[in-house]
Amino acid sequence: MAPMRAIAALEVGGPDVLQLQDGPDLHPGPGQLLVTAHAAGVNFIDTYRRAGIYPMTFPHIVGSEGAGVVSEIGDGVSPHLLGTRVAWTDAPGSYAEQVLVSAERALPVPDGVGDDLAAAAPLQGLTAHYLATSTYPIAQGEWALVHAAAGGVGLLLTQLIRARGGRVVATVSTQAKAELAMAAGAESVIRYDELTSLTQELPDLVRQLSSGGVHVVYDGVGRATFDASLASLRPRGVLALFGGSSGQVPPFDLQRLNTGGSLYVTRPSLGAYVATREELLARSSDLFARIADGSLSVRIGARYPLAEAAQAHRALESRATTGKVILDM
Ligand code: NDP
Repeated sequence: MAPMRAIAALEVGGPDVLQLQDGPDLHPGPGQLLVTAHAAGVNFIDTYRRAGIYPMTFPHIVGSEGAGVVSEIGDGVSPHLLGTRVAWTDAPGSYAEQVLVSAERALPVPDGVGDDLAAAAPLQGLTAHYLATSTYPIAQGEWALVHAAAGGVGLLLTQLIRARGGRVVATVSTQAKAELAMAAGAESVIRYDELTSLTQELPDLVRQLSSGGVHVVYDGVGRATFDASLASLRPRGVLALFGGSSGQVPPFDLQRLNTGGSLYVTRPSLGAYVATREELLARSSDLFARIADGSLSVRIGARYPLAEAAQAHRALESRATTGKVILDM
């Protein structure tokens, strides 16, 4: 049988370090599934790992998200799983035709969710889910500022906030992205690329739009927006800094939380919000149910053949994408 194909990051670097290679011959160990992948999800974290922002060993097969059909099972795994469709968010080596997935971390995919959406939704969907329901469980009538609202997490988060009755001020960098954010439910969209000073002008605009400041900022942009995010909060507001697509936020003086009006900052990550199988399944079944009944729309903004993973990274890092990017196997 021909070896499976996979995308390896050969060393720390830019998208050019991504190479299509023959992957290893995989066999599931105890508690594992071998999955024939339909597609892999492309996520910002893949670029951080490739670029050395998060420590990794090199070379490594890139990616952690995908969906496909279980083709082999390891010891201790229920035989009922053979031939079923599963998705995952945390299986290292997911930019590959074959992926080993821990049965404990596999998400059953319901009939109402197609193969593409099964690969596209889990990581960004579960992230949007925990942010809106747990990190700051936004309530009816409360205001949120969502940065990069036409991005993968941004579009899903905006919809989930609206579904809870929250109100969204969104930021985006193009007119086309503004239209997507509005369609997802944002009440106001700010073109932050057009402001001469993000730190000065953005909070003023947000305060006007939200009657004195937002209850929560969901900030995945990081370095470029952090100061403006803090200054956009009303007293006792929460800044959920969940990523750094513009760069990581440097250390900051805790006294700023005092002078801002008893503010809160948290730096959440998905792993801590789906740590148990119970919580993982509760969130994923809610997410997939919303997708299946059409109440949550997942936009696949771009898809590339596996061999063009480098191009997918370039597009994501250059702000050229909207919604989700996937790699077809
Ligand atoms: P997106 O689809 O949102 O893409 C990133 C977006 O960030 C861009 O489209 C762009 O939107 C905006 N952006 C602003 N400045 C820059 C810049 N200098 N370079 C690149 N992009 C910039 O990506 P994801 O939805 O995959 O991820 C969004 C964020 O969420 C990332 O920071 C990611 O690491 C984080 N994340 C965190 C998780 C967690 O649990 N903590 C889990 C999943 C994702 P625009 O053009 O409108 O400015």
